[in-house]
Amino acid sequence: MTLLTELVARLADVVCADPDVMEGYRRDRASWAPAGLPLALARPRNTREVQELARFATEHRVPLVPRGAGTGVAGGANALDGCVVVSFERMNAILELDEAAMYAVVQPGVLNVELKQAAAQHGLWYSPDPSSFEISTLGGNVATNAGGLCCVKYGVTGDYVLGLEAVRSNGEVFRTGGRCRKDVAGYDLTRLLVGSEGSLALITEMRLRLRRKPAPPSTFVALFGSLEAAGHATASIVRAFEPSLLELMDRTALRAVESHAHLDLDLDAAALLVGQTDTENSSQLLAMQNACEAAGAHLAYSTEDPNEGELLLKARRLAYPALERLGSVVIDDISVPLPQLAEMLRRIELVAAEHDVLVATVAHAGDGNVHPLIVFDPNDESARVRAHAVFEQLLVEALALGGTVSGEHGVGLIKAGYLRRQLDATSLELHHAVKRAFDPLGILNPGKLLGSS
Ligand SMILES: Cc1cc2nc3c(=O)[nH]c(=O)nc-3n(C[C@H](O)[C@H](O)[C@H](O)COP(=O)(O)OP(=O)(O)OC[C@H]3O[C@@H](n4cnc5c(N)ncnc54)[C@H](O)[C@@H]3O)c2cc1C
Repeated sequence: MTLLTELVARLADVVCADPDVMEGYRRDRASWAPAGLPLALARPRNTREVQELARFATEHRVPLVPRGAGTGVAGGANALDGCVVVSFERMNAILELDEAAMYAVVQPGVLNVELKQAAAQHGLWYSPDPSSFEISTLGGNVATNAGGLCCVKYGVTGDYVLGLEAVRSNGEVFRTGGRCRKDVAGYDLTRLLVGSEGSLALITEMRLRLRRKPAPPSTFVALFGSLEAAGHATASIVRAFEPSLLELMDRTALRAVESHAHLDLDLDAAALLVGQTDTENSSQLLAMQNACEAAGAHLAYSTEDPNEGELLLKARRLAYPALERLGSVVIDDISVPLPQLAEMLRRIELVAAEHDVLVATVAHAGDGNVHPLIVFDPNDESARVRAHAVFEQLLVEALALGGTVSGEHGVGLIKAGYLRRQLDATSLELHHAVKRAFDPLGILNPGKLLGSS
């Protein structure tokens, strides 16, 4: 019996080996990460079927590659030759929404937006808001510890995970955490699985914390003649106030959006900063606007009207689609300590100019989390090589400034080599020891996060 016939015999309604169907599951959105040819695609409907897949994989040493919606940008969900891609799209139920305890129990294939909508019906809010919230799954969000726009005040996905159910590579199922908001009993296995990018266990259920919905936000926007001034304004706002959103766009991003959407943006500005506050104290809004002016903004405007605020945010939301019209886009993701933000922005401009590559920067500025969007012509090999050089150089610059090679997108395939540079030798060995403890045979997402050893 071949491997495939055995797998089909064991999980007939779950497994698909049609090459045309599998083609759609081979890669995520990381345009230059390699992707292999899977043995099969599996779409389990429940934890029991996930266990059976893991048992099969362990018996035959077949790699398993977990997959949410494939919106990741680090190659984390990319197939490996001979693997089984495990898509959680059929495990997409909200199992419980406890209004009094303020949590929801969900399967991994639920989209982030679906939980937001369900929570809203109970007057509650699921805060984590990656820009991909309408298209990414909660399983993927937890496995990457996704960030987003409101993290500056409300934290990242991991801050909302109370507990998990997961399946080890040998098929054992286990639970972490529980129902309590505070729980310090034992090692924090929940936190260990959050952000583990499918390399430690297959997450089959999540208990996620919900919050009271905050007041509608007030919004300010400010334009700066230099990136440094915008960086300094960001640092001073975060030090003195509590913005619920603080985003930045550089000139290249502004120009791309203007030519795409014609919003009448100031094309001479070097940077745009847009911020929000959802505190009832309206003086915060004015004070943040004043902080921008003190840092050198030549124009600052604010509004308490949420609809007008959403219009002011529109340019930021359109940055990625606008850039995509200009070529292939690699979304880089680095993070630096806030006082280094201005210097990081300066270095991005320098590195882009040195390599003659179009780089537009958008940033979750309030978190020091920067996304240089590297644009290149996919049909021009030399442009591709230069774009890659920019990508790598920016990781080096972030590390040199005390930053990290990933603020929120994860390491996946494309940054595994740089994770090794970021961690000290002992920490790296502990990472490998953790991997061995969960997955001794290296079945789960091999080569991702820690690279090939
Ligand atoms: C336009 C756009 C905007 C984005 N904006 C943001 C943003 O603001 N913030 C942000 O953080 N990210 C952002 N992302 C990146 C991406 O959306 C996130 O990383 C998201 O969390 C991935 O979810 P997914 O369901 O698509 O997971 P996938 O891409 O399918 O998988 C991501 C990783 O999780 C693993 N995984 C998935 N499900 C499971 C599971 N059940 N068990 C174990 N491992 C699993 C996979 O193996 C892979 O390593 C953006 C992407 C795009 C395309």
